Amino acid sequence: MTTAFLDLGTAHTACREELQATFARVLDKGHFILGEEVEAFEAEFAQYCGVPHCIGVGNGLDALLLILRAMGIGPGDEVIVPAHTFIATWLAVTQCGARPVAVESQTAGYNIDPARIEAAITPRTRAIIAVHLYGEPADMDALQAIADRHGLRLIEDAAQAHGARYKGRRTGSLADAAAFSFYPTKNLGALGDGGAVTTRDPALADSIRQLRNYGSRIKYQHDVAGYNTRLDELQAALLRVKLRQLDTLNAARQQVAQRYLEALADTPGLRLPHPAGLVEHVWHLFVIRTPQREQLAAALGARGIATMVHYPTPCHLQGVYRNDGYPALQATSTLCGEVLSLPMWPGLDPEPVIQALQEASL
Ligand SMILES: *Cc1c(COP(=O)(O)O)cnc(C)c1O
Repeated sequence: MTTAFLDLGTAHTACREELQATFARVLDKGHFILGEEVEAFEAEFAQYCGVPHCIGVGNGLDALLLILRAMGIGPGDEVIVPAHTFIATWLAVTQCGARPVAVESQTAGYNIDPARIEAAITPRTRAIIAVHLYGEPADMDALQAIADRHGLRLIEDAAQAHGARYKGRRTGSLADAAAFSFYPTKNLGALGDGGAVTTRDPALADSIRQLRNYGSRIKYQHDVAGYNTRLDELQAALLRVKLRQLDTLNAARQQVAQRYLEALADTPGLRLPHPAGLVEHVWHLFVIRTPQREQLAAALGARGIATMVHYPTPCHLQGVYRNDGYPALQATSTLCGEVLSLPMWPGLDPEPVIQALQEASL
């Protein structure tokens, strides 16, 4: 018996026929870019998040980039980003011409530490990007208070947190705008690439609609240097099916996480995640910390349990940023050396993982 790190089989078996019928419907309709399916998905996902506007785009990176462009952020500007995140958060800032300024995580968790942000603000700072890392909402009230105090925009990178809640409110509704990815492995995943922006701000929504489609509001009229980054009809139609399952699948992830948390609470040498009381975590990943990461991963591997590391190299030490004068960010480097992601997917049986961890940690 082996346990895969991720298996989307259960999720797709549940709606296989509906997905096939959807594919046939889009094929028969013969309209593949910016049509009824994208419009319907946008309306449904906006309603799900609790905001008036959703704009479907090509992927999560472009969702972040278009938000920054629509906010007028560019060369000479600085954007505060978590030091510990997937590289896309930083790349979006770089791609709009601004500079990512790294702030490290809370000692007790994985998300950006609001207490360390003000020291990183300069006259060039324009925005803060909060990442809901691994599916856990960041401390948005604390971040909003800082943004208000300094006149900054606040952006959610919600690529790992579809359906998560902060004080009862869904991600996607917690800041000026939010970026989602529908990469197949995300909690809400397409069968290919996809992304979206959600926002309450009608002007921002309008600007992002223009930017995603060659900077055009009227066909063959181009007023800004836009992109070609649209959610396509087929992915939108498939996402409409999968959105209807999202809450059920997130609840299944929460069950697995609950079992991990109970069973592993007293395992020596492991630091378990402990989400803040006011959030509903959707467990995109279940990430533990241990200084013996390599040994533990090998011992689990020998027992047939697959694990992964999110992320092994901090953004500021990647080739793309290594020569850009970032400080050492020692806490982030230590974190990247200790994190280990356990198998997590809806329908996973956690018992073999728990047993292997208990044997391996003895
Ligand atoms: C996946 C991800 C992205 C980028 O999404 P893509 O659709 O792959 O471009 C951005 N930020 C975070 C935190 C992610 O996990």
